[in-house]
Amino acid sequence: MIPELPVGHPWFAAEDAGSGIARLFEPYVDPFLESNVWHVSGAERDLVVDTANGIGPLRPAVEALSDGKPVVAIATHAHFDHVGGLHEFDDRRCHRLDAEMPAPAGLRLMREAFPDWLVEDFAWYGSPLPEVVALSAVPDASFDVTAWTTPPTEATSFLDEGDAIDLGDRSFVALHTPGHTDGSICLWEEASGMIFTGDAIYVDARLGWEDPEAFAASLVRLRDLDIRIAHSGHGRSFEGAELRDAVDAALRGLG
Ligand SMILES: [Zn+2]
Ligand SMILES: [Zn+2]
Repeated sequence: MIPELPVGHPWFAAEDAGSGIARLFEPYVDPFLESNVWHVSGAERDLVVDTANGIGPLRPAVEALSDGKPVVAIATHAHFDHVGGLHEFDDRRCHRLDAEMPAPAGLRLMREAFPDWLVEDFAWYGSPLPEVVALSAVPDASFDVTAWTTPPTEATSFLDEGDAIDLGDRSFVALHTPGHTDGSICLWEEASGMIFTGDAIYVDARLGWEDPEAFAASLVRLRDLDIRIAHSGHGRSFEGAELRDAVDAALRGLG
C-alpha cells in the first residue's frame, strides 16, 4: 500500500554556514539518505557543491541565494545522493572517472523496491531501513513515490586535478581524491583554508570506500593540507584538527 504523505514545501531547507557559504539539505528524506548541498556566493558567479537526492527541485533554493548570477554546479562524485539535482543546472561538472551519473544506479523510495546494493549500504553504515518509504513528505501532491528514481544526467565539462573554479573574488581548485569512488574530488580554497570534501572524509559516521589503497592515499593527502574548515557531503562541518584525527582513525581502520 502506498502511504499518504504530506507535501513538504519548499523541498530544500537552507542555513548559513558563514564566509559566504550556505548549506542546503532535504529535511523530508530518510536520515541515512540526507546529504549536504553547499552554495558558495562569488562576485561573478556562484558555486554549488553536490546536489543531494533531488527528489524535489533544488534550483529555486539556489536561485534564492544566487541573485541572478551564473551557477557552476559540481558533483564531488557520482553517487545518487550527490547528483540527484545536478540535471537542473546548465553548467554541470564532475571528474571524468565518475562520468556515469548516478552510479551504480538511481535511488528508489519504496523499501520493497530497494535494490540489493542499497540494502547493503544501509547495513554497512549501520542505519535502520525505512519501514515503507524513505520519505516523510513528498515535494508536491502529484509526486509518484513508486515511480521516482534519481534523474540521470551528464556533465557539460570534466574537472581534473588542479583545475580552478574562479568565482571572481574567490577561487577553488579541484583535488582528485579517489578511493570512495574512482572520480571523487575535493574542492580546496587555499586562501581561506576551506575544503569541500564530499564523501572522502566526514565525521560522526562510518566512512566507505571502493579502493582501500587509493582511499588511504587520499586521506593522507588531506591530512597534509593546512585545512581550517571542512564542509563534507554528510553531517556537520569540522575544523582541521578534527579532520586530522578522523583521518588517523580511518587509516587505523583501513589497516
Ligand atoms: Zn558517496
Ligand atoms: Zn554520500
